[in-house]
Amino acid sequence: VLKAEIAAEFRSLVGEDWFLTAPEDLATYSYDAFIKEFQPDAVILPADRAEISKMMRVASREKINIIPRGAGTNLCGNTVARQGGIVLDLNRLNKIIEIDTANLCAVVQPGVINADLQKAAAQFGLMFGPDPASMMACTIGGNVALNAGGPRALKYGVTRDNLLGLEVVLTSGDIIRTGGKTIKNVTGYDLTRLLCGSEGTLGIITEIIAKLVAVPPQRKTFLASFASLYDVARSVSSIIGSAIIPAALELMEKVLIDLVKNYAGLIFPEDAEAVLLIEIDGDEDSIQSMSHRITEICFEENALRVDSASTPKEAERLWQARRAVGPAARMARPLVFSEDATVPVSKLPDIIQKIAELRQKHRLMVGVLAHAGDGNLHPIFMADMNDTDEMERLEQFIQEMYEATIAMGGTLSGEHGIGIAKAKYMPLEYNAAAIEIMRGIKKVFDPHNILNPGSFL
Ligand SMILES: Cc1cc2nc3c(=O)[nH]c(=O)nc-3n(C[C@H](O)[C@H](O)[C@H](O)COP(=O)(O)OP(=O)(O)OC[C@H]3O[C@@H](n4cnc5c(N)ncnc54)[C@H](O)[C@@H]3O)c2cc1C
Repeated sequence: VLKAEIAAEFRSLVGEDWFLTAPEDLATYSYDAFIKEFQPDAVILPADRAEISKMMRVASREKINIIPRGAGTNLCGNTVARQGGIVLDLNRLNKIIEIDTANLCAVVQPGVINADLQKAAAQFGLMFGPDPASMMACTIGGNVALNAGGPRALKYGVTRDNLLGLEVVLTSGDIIRTGGKTIKNVTGYDLTRLLCGSEGTLGIITEIIAKLVAVPPQRKTFLASFASLYDVARSVSSIIGSAIIPAALELMEKVLIDLVKNYAGLIFPEDAEAVLLIEIDGDEDSIQSMSHRITEICFEENALRVDSASTPKEAERLWQARRAVGPAARMARPLVFSEDATVPVSKLPDIIQKIAELRQKHRLMVGVLAHAGDGNLHPIFMADMNDTDEMERLEQFIQEMYEATIAMGGTLSGEHGIGIAKAKYMPLEYNAAAIEIMRGIKKVFDPHNILNPGSFL
């Protein structure tokens, strides 16, 4: 519990209105989009880097835990105060400082919502590559700290690929800058890329230089339906294997199709065991040749039908259906969460077969959703937390799925991060020496272990 005089010191730094301790405020900040809840001792909402620097000096001096938070949409318990402390809400730092068309980049504060940056960039015919399905709510600071991806990561990369520089307040209160507006930069260690994906454990990001790219002249969306999940997985490997890179290649299986069926009037073919939602973009010629080849491949892999959206509105309806999977699943069972196992794309058929086997073995309700083109699976688990037998089978399923993922050369997380949700699986992917290196890095940045302690390390 926070001592009264320390609380008063924080309060005087940010002003009475921006230091919260009322029970209803603490309850609001006790959860994120994962399942576990921990109540913080207080919530602080500073206005700028100067206030953050001052409060970090106090936190370091008093060894008070600080948990940075954007919109709290992370799926791994990354913003809950597991060991107590103060949640640092960055939403007041929400300015788009500059859209720099000459250097194809944007300078933004961390609390800017992803969709707002997209809107501002679109006025200049530009976009920010990362498009997480949570883009209407999540912040660029959260995107950087979790190295977020999204459907179009296949072509445009994840946040780390679209990041040029950062301003970061360290636990000491010192402020550093990494990278800049240049595309090339090989000066010293690449701290920008290290901080990206650090899950709020190394420093507080207070400014971001994000790379922007041109909005493609044309887009086309297809829906390919298959009678077998395995055929879908093989057609994904074949499309990528033919060196065609769609903007997005999303896989959705029957359990989930049934849940979102009729969503916004959309009817999926009745006999489809799985569908592929494919988006290609570029100029007219390349769209035509890609369309032709993708359709050919899908039929070679036994597609039942390949339909293309004839208007942008129709395409948007398909994407809305894709984004509706989470909410639709939440109507089905009380506990719903998605995992993030990711394999080299050539192994997609193998991991999908493994998941189908595990589903039978453990008798669970699981639907495969995947950013399939980059091998990033989001199996959606639907269960009931009060059913202890079901929860045990669930644990076992996830353990076996991650063991298989790693054995196939994959990773525990493609984009959601580790947090408290998957910390226990870290030794599957990294040996003790590698984890020790990470602990060493953490110690250099955060000698008192006050930033998001009890997270993945
Ligand atoms: C419906 C839904 C769909 C989603 N779809 C996707 C998807 O397609 N792709 C994807 O990658 N993710 C997805 N996510 C996960 C999540 O939205 C992303 O990881 C997003 O980047 C989190 O942003 P946030 O602002 O909510 O960050 P938060 O959840 O608030 O924080 C995330 C992490 O960043 C740290 N952090 C936040 N701001 C800062 C800062 N300024 N300085 C230092 N650390 C900071 C926090 O401590 C925490 O560790 C989805 C989530 C939901 C609920």
